[in-house]
Parts: sequence; structure tokens; C-alpha cells
Amino acid sequence: MPAALAGLSLLPPLVLAFDGTRLLQVLALTASAWLWLAWPLRGGRARAMQALAAGVMAGAFLADASVRSFILSTWGALPDSTMVVTALANTSDSEAAEFLLAYWPGLLQQGALLLLSLALLGVLLRRWWAVSAAQAHPSPWRRAAFFLLLLLLLAALSIKPWRKYHPVVFWPLWAEQVADTRAQWESAHLQRAELKQRAAAQAPALAPASPDTLVLVMSDSINRAHLSLYGYPRQTTPQLAQRLQQRSGDFKVFRHPWSADASTVTALANFFHFGEPSSPSRNHFLALAAAAGYQTWWISNHDDLAIHRQHAQLADRQSMLNNVPGRSAASLDHTVLPELERALRSGPGRKLIVVHLLGAHPHYRLRHPPGEASFRDVRDMVYRQLEAGGRSARTRELRNDYDSAIRYHDSVIDRTLELTRTLGGRAGWIFLSDHGQEVGSVSDHAGHSASSADGYRIPLLAWGEAARGVPDEQARLPIRADWLGHSLTRLMGIHWPGYRPERDFLHPGYRWTPPRHPVRIDYLS
Ligand SMILES: [Zn+2]
Repeated sequence: MPAALAGLSLLPPLVLAFDGTRLLQVLALTASAWLWLAWPLRGGRARAMQALAAGVMAGAFLADASVRSFILSTWGALPDSTMVVTALANTSDSEAAEFLLAYWPGLLQQGALLLLSLALLGVLLRRWWAVSAAQAHPSPWRRAAFFLLLLLLLAALSIKPWRKYHPVVFWPLWAEQVADTRAQWESAHLQRAELKQRAAAQAPALAPASPDTLVLVMSDSINRAHLSLYGYPRQTTPQLAQRLQQRSGDFKVFRHPWSADASTVTALANFFHFGEPSSPSRNHFLALAAAAGYQTWWISNHDDLAIHRQHAQLADRQSMLNNVPGRSAASLDHTVLPELERALRSGPGRKLIVVHLLGAHPHYRLRHPPGEASFRDVRDMVYRQLEAGGRSARTRELRNDYDSAIRYHDSVIDRTLELTRTLGGRAGWIFLSDHGQEVGSVSDHAGHSASSADGYRIPLLAWGEAARGVPDEQARLPIRADWLGHSLTRLMGIHWPGYRPERDFLHPGYRWTPPRHPVRIDYLS
């Protein structure tokens, strides 16, 4: 009985620190504490050791939950978010002291709650020790309970995303991450300084008649084959389709764009470094635009340390709006809209505004508002075709979730375009995705895919100065996202020596060469 109560005493602090399925995962991991109590040992000293071991382990979960609750309630962030990790990596001892002073009421409250729950745990374990001494014959069920808890723990530890949340696993890795970040800080700083220097050395010049604003919307995991704008049978892009109908003169849909990569960090490195991320003389799109006289913005609903360090920090102004890394981030993409509006309204001058979205990155169900699950439980032709193709119920459900995310995404993309159109002056607007996504089209798989064309299949849309006068046959050429910088700098009126006309699909001298993909792709598909 006292053991069960001790288990229950962990529940309230954990509920405050975790939600949904994560809470269940962490509860399964707490078996590593209770398992100590289950084995029927007789001696008083042996049982005291059992209680101590259980107490230390349960105490670790309590301390973990307490730190998480504090960070969550103070900044709405997870401890391993870019915001928290970079803030800590960037903190000196005196700043740490200032921090303690600034947040003392919250810290005091969390500290008091932690002490209280530790005391309660101690009392209950002491009680367990006393009660178990009185039992002449420990129940045989205890051995069964031990093996059951052990099984549960081993199962939970065998799954990597679960294991990560065991405090004994999480915090050493976290400390390493902070130390790594601090170590890389200096070198990243130097790299950025070098990129800026190299950009200045290119002496980029601005053509006076070029547009004054470019909004570049970089989304995530959007496969163009799922956009009705590209012929998908489900109505996933009604707003963009309507816009195309209204203004076909200055809105272009490029039919065959491809990413060189199937994941975000490599795709962005390739894109921003003009397809040459590992060249010793590489240039960076943002640094070049800044050197040419553009003001630069990075508005992001992404939380990724590498992206932040390699690209976002090169921008004059950064708005990082999502503080939860990885797949369980629930921040919806429309959070970028007010920031985009602010950037567009801010004074005169040439502007390059990068908007980085989560798009339809897994988990798909978190990429649309709960009330806007347009294709949940839909049993239409698309669904029946998947069924006929032998796709599992899980994949079919994920397809519905993915398409719901695309449908919501349509409204956000259209809104970024509308804001650019009404506030941008002589503006251009470009939308693309970092890479594609396979959602049951070629195999029973849903997610990033380096081994199928869908993993690289992306959309590319342009409006305004970016689309005007582009002939239809140019819009049907295969295009590489990693070369796009050449077309964009020309569009922005930037003259620089690194410009390669054969990589600019808007130039008559454009010559398509396929990227090095590990899979055979029909690039006109
Ligand atoms: Zn991505």
C-alpha cells in the first residue's frame, strides 16, 4: 500500500511537467524506481537500501519535473529547446547570478514544491520499510510485480524517443549539448564573420530598378504532389488555386522543382550556400543580400539549433517563435504572420524577409489546428486507392492527417502572399519547401524519405516581381532548390561575381543538371 501511494505521489508534479502521451511514457520510465521495492528481501538493512534506491530514483524524476515545470511556466519552453540551450551556453557566472535574482519568486515556489514532494516521498518510503518488516511472508505477487515492472522498464528504455525522457539519460546529454553549443559558439561566430567578410569582398552592387522587397517563405516537408494546385484530387489548396485564377499574370506555379536533399539541415545549407555548402569559398545568400544593402529578417516557427546558428543569426533581425524542438512542437505556422506584417510595415529600404515554417513536418496531426482536420476519417477515392494498394490503416490515417496539414498550410501561405501584396511595395514573393515527404505513395511509409522521389519533390510558387514575365515554358523546366539563390539574387537586382547564369532557371543560358540523388528520379514527373 505505501509503495502504491509513493507511486501516486509522483503524479501531480509529473502532470505539471508533461502532457499527453509524453506523460504516459515518463510514467512507464518511473518503473526504474518502483522496481526496487518489489523484490522481497527480508533483512531490515537490505530493505532500507531498497527504499533508498527507490527514493533516489523517484527523487530524480521529481527534480526533473520541477526544473521542467519552472522552464515551461516561465518561458513556455522545453529545457532542450534552442532558446534555453543557447541562453545557457551564452550565460556567464555573473549573468547566472542576475538570473537567480530576477526569477527568485518562481524559483522559490518550485523549490518549495520540490522539497514538499520529496518529503512526502520520504515519509511514504519510510512507511513502506516499516510495513514490509511486519509481513511474515511477503506475497508471491511481489516477484511477479518485479518482473512486470522490469518488463515495462525495458520496453520503455528500448524506444529511443521514450528513453530520452529518463532523467538519468536526459540531463547528461543535455549538459553535453550546452557544452557543445558553447564550444561551437566561438567557431560559428567566426564562420559568420568570415561569411560576412566574403560577402563584402564580392562587392555586390544593386541595380536601381530592381524590386525593393523579397519575401522568401521556406516551408518544411511539403510534397507538391499533395497540392491540388499541382493536380492532387483532394482540394488541399483552394485559396492558392483561387489566387492563381484571379492573377495568373503575376502568380506562377513552377511545375518541376526538386530539393537536392531529403532533410532540413542539409537542404537549408545547400540552399543558402548556392548549392556549394562545403566549398571553402562558399557564399551565403543572407550575407550577400546584407552586403548589397538589403535589411534582412529571419522569422521562424522552427526550433533548430543548427539552423539558428548557421543561418538565422546572419539576419539583422530574428524572431524565433517556437521554443519546442523536434516533432512534438505544436506551434502553428500562422504565428509568423504578425511578425511578417511588422517587418513589411517597418520603414523604407530594401528588405529580404525569410519566413521559416514547420509546414507539414511530422507529427502531421500537430500541423493544423485541432478544429481544422479537413480530411480526418474521410473515405474518398484517395483513401480507397491507398487501401487497394495495400497500405496499412495507420498509413491511410497519416495520409489524411498530412493532407489536413496541407489544407491548413494553404491558408497560411496565401496569407503571407496577401500581406506581401498589400504591404510590400514593389515586392516579390517566393514559396518553396526544404524537402518533400513520402506519405504512402510508393510504399507503406510516412515520413522523410531519402530513397524515393517524393522525399525530394517540392513546390515552388512565385508572385509579383518574382513571377512577372516568366514564360510558361520556363515554369515547366526542372528546377533545383539549391541553385535557386542564383535566380533570387538576380531578381533582387544584386550583381555579384559568383553569379552563374547556367544555374539561374530564369536566364536563357540555364542548363539543367540533376542533383546527386541516391535514387533514380524522372525529373519531369
Ligand atoms: Zn524539413
